[in-house]
Amino acid sequence: MARVYNFSAGPAVLPEEVLEKCAGEMLDYAGCGTSVMEMSHRSSVFKGIIEGAEARLRSLMSIPDNYKVIFTQGGDSLLFSTVFMNLATNGKADYVITGNWAKKAFQEAQILGDAQAVASSADKNFSYIPDCSDLPIREDASYLYICENNTIYGTKFPELPNTKGHVLVADQSSMFLSEPVDVSRYGLIHAGVQKNVGPAGVQIVIVREDLIPDDLPGVPTMLRLKTQADAGSLYNTPNCWGIYVCGLVFEWIERMGGLAAMGERNAEKAAVLYDFLDESKLFSSTVDPSCRSLMNVPFVTGNEDLDAVFVKDAAKAGLVNLKGHRSVGGMRASIYNAMPREGVEALVAFMKEFELAHR
Ligand code: PMP
Repeated sequence: MARVYNFSAGPAVLPEEVLEKCAGEMLDYAGCGTSVMEMSHRSSVFKGIIEGAEARLRSLMSIPDNYKVIFTQGGDSLLFSTVFMNLATNGKADYVITGNWAKKAFQEAQILGDAQAVASSADKNFSYIPDCSDLPIREDASYLYICENNTIYGTKFPELPNTKGHVLVADQSSMFLSEPVDVSRYGLIHAGVQKNVGPAGVQIVIVREDLIPDDLPGVPTMLRLKTQADAGSLYNTPNCWGIYVCGLVFEWIERMGGLAAMGERNAEKAAVLYDFLDESKLFSSTVDPSCRSLMNVPFVTGNEDLDAVFVKDAAKAGLVNLKGHRSVGGMRASIYNAMPREGVEALVAFMKEFELAHR
């Protein structure tokens, strides 16, 4: 068996310990004689799995008691609509546009009601986070929406915006559980788990209870947050397998020392790569140093043909999925929680060799 260093932006690398545990429990979960995939979501065994996963997540993130945790489906992209339908109670919400995913969330909101962009970094191909200290947020906007870590462009909000008393909603998909966050500063956090937490097909919503509307005329049952919040994410059949794997990843993060330790480890790991990019004569970072993501690191040589050679040669050396998103070009290394420091060091060692050979 030859595992590679997988720099995919998502679905992405998972901790080997977790994969081994899944493999070990595949045929017989805890003496049930079936895998988790084969058991009823109404069984007491699965109830233990989902409740255990939620309890671990609450403890990892210190989620206050007045927040609900929902495991849902439909893609993080569906949450762009769900958020607006549930939280924009007067049909108005304001958005900060820092990349494709923020833009898509904004566009969904525009389909549904009155969404306004209050800041954007489109002028420099989303290579920075705009100043959010004094945004023209409308008095009656229901919330301010941000995509806190921009998977494609490799930026992250260095600090949360001044919401001027408005509810803050954040898409944390590509930074979820990568460092400590103060949940009480948000009205709602949503994240697809396929980057830092588990297999594709599960999204997690953490929402302040008082923001969940009781009555939403015209909104389908499955798109009401209340439906899954009241049912403990078991209104309908959830992605049982995905939730089980998330639970194992939460357990792994606990064993690694929790989010503070994870944050330190991620900062150190990212520094290995950024330090090299800052000194390299061939490679450079595409992102303003004030807002570099610890999770997604785009970089270029400045020569598209050479970028393509790099991606191909790196793959041959066991460093895979380094091709950048088409909107930035070049390369992108996604170095989520489960990417070991050795993986980043191997990448930098390969980049150094490549630089010597191609300068
Ligand atoms: N938000 C962010 C920040 C993302 O990176 C992605 C996917 N890469 C999405 C939303 C969309 O997720 P999904 O594919 O689950 O709809």
